[in-house]
Amino acid sequence: MDSLSRHYHQLVGLNQDWVIADVQLDVENRTLTLSLEFLGDRVVCPECGATCSMKDHAAERSWRHLDAMQFQTILTARVPRCSCETCGVKTIGVPWAEKHSRFTLLFEAFAIDVLQASQSIRSAALLLGIDWSTAQVIMKRAVARGLERRSLDKVRHVGIDEKSFGKGQDYVTVMTDIEQSRVLEVTPDRTTESADELKSKKVSGTVYLILGDTVHPSSTNAREGKNTDRHCFCPGIRNNSGLPL
Ligand SMILES: [Zn+2]
Repeated sequence: MDSLSRHYHQLVGLNQDWVIADVQLDVENRTLTLSLEFLGDRVVCPECGATCSMKDHAAERSWRHLDAMQFQTILTARVPRCSCETCGVKTIGVPWAEKHSRFTLLFEAFAIDVLQASQSIRSAALLLGIDWSTAQVIMKRAVARGLERRSLDKVRHVGIDEKSFGKGQDYVTVMTDIEQSRVLEVTPDRTTESADELKSKKVSGTVYLILGDTVHPSSTNAREGKNTDRHCFCPGIRNNSGLPL
């Protein structure tokens, strides 16, 4: 690797199995493309974790990475396929992205930060240069990762609220862990059914808070505390201040 490739190798956080084989800068389209190449000769089966021999390479794929100085950064690679005695021929996992994702893990983590800081999914998607449905997919994947990583047993206060997109005309319903400020689940619409779907994912010992009239516009519970737009839903906790407990 030359110094430029080594520089990007460190920035992307690649391990020794991968090198930056080529760097292409498209000034007109403000795109930086980093071509990655696998150097190892033995690979790990993504299904069973066995070390196996490499069969060949899958077709070239690309992943959107964090922008570099206003240049959209794209990683491309032909990912090796392993020949596993148990599972057959499988495409190995890559360290920078989840299976089937078109984005790197670092981009997805940044996207979640932007989504959480934005007033609507639409405004976050505009900032990130992605469409609304892609933002939805990234959010759902983050939720799945969070649920895999962490037990919900320790979640004590759960908020259910709506987020608008599309000029404020459309909504999704979002369930969050209030104490740890993390998204737990997302459903389309802001209907009673959406809130009920999220509540059905309740784990033992969890306490629920409903935040926002529009989540449950016809609910008796949501009409409690008429002087505020945030309401306590659960017995035992009254929080009409709108502040997390
Ligand atoms: Zn296997």
